[in-house]
Amino acid sequence: MNMLQNQVALVTGSARGIGRSIVERLLQDGAIVYINDLKAEDIESTIQELNEQYQFEDRLFGIEGDVSNDEIVKPMIEKILSAHNRLDILVNNAGITRDGLMMRMSVQDFELVLKVNLTSAFLCSKYASRKMLSQKYGRIINISSVVGVMGNAGQANYSSSKAGMIGLTKSLAKEFGSRGVTVNAIAPGFIETAMTHHLSEEVRNKFLESIPLRRAGTPNDVAGVVSFLCSPDAAYITGQVIHVDGGMVM
Ligand code: NAP
Repeated sequence: MNMLQNQVALVTGSARGIGRSIVERLLQDGAIVYINDLKAEDIESTIQELNEQYQFEDRLFGIEGDVSNDEIVKPMIEKILSAHNRLDILVNNAGITRDGLMMRMSVQDFELVLKVNLTSAFLCSKYASRKMLSQKYGRIINISSVVGVMGNAGQANYSSSKAGMIGLTKSLAKEFGSRGVTVNAIAPGFIETAMTHHLSEEVRNKFLESIPLRRAGTPNDVAGVVSFLCSPDAAYITGQVIHVDGGMVM
């Protein structure tokens, strides 16, 4: 329960979905947690719901803003540091899709997905790591995807961004390792969230047939692995991509 006591965590894009489950799990592990998302009202309602359920008042905070924007991320991290003077855990979770076949994919949709999914992870890691390196401790976890490993028709932009997150993870693991900062990626498969709810029955069934465990994953399946990567048991793990996909890719 108190494994992460006094540790400060920021989870991007976490008012709902996988990010929200990660927030809940890190709070249960004892951390002080910042929920980031685009809309203040979404953050407020998530904070209210979590506090009604668990009474986390003194350890749960919100910080609104677009994490793909350099001018927003820098003051966002500074605000956390001025309140706690440390940042131990960064989970780069914010992500979007703009699916479409290559022939019809606009440059705008390609660049937007790269910016929100990959540039955001670069920016948050850049500003958070300054403190992590000086305190000689940190855990950076990038939420990538199995499609960043295997590709996916109709997701050239999204797959490229998620593959980029894997390259970022490995490079930062090499840069930061000697200073006690680990950097790992999680590659979820098919997880039940708003991002996958719009998929047709046919596409869902196709996904399920390709999963040896024969079920979709839940946000908690991902949150549990984030918790493990933040734990002392994972101290000697860095630069890895951990699949949470029911065996979809092996
Ligand atoms: P989700 O339900 O769509 O949640 C994503 C959250 O990120 C939303 O609250 C969204 O806010 C927020 N967000 C979007 N752009 C942002 C920005 N620029 N700055 C801050 N917040 C932003 O998605 P999810 O399914 O939980 O996915 C979470 C992560 O896991 C994503 O990186 C996704 O690519 C990855 N993933 C998901 C699956 C899956 O099957 N669900 C599989 C593999 C990987 P709004 O609501 O305002 O848009």
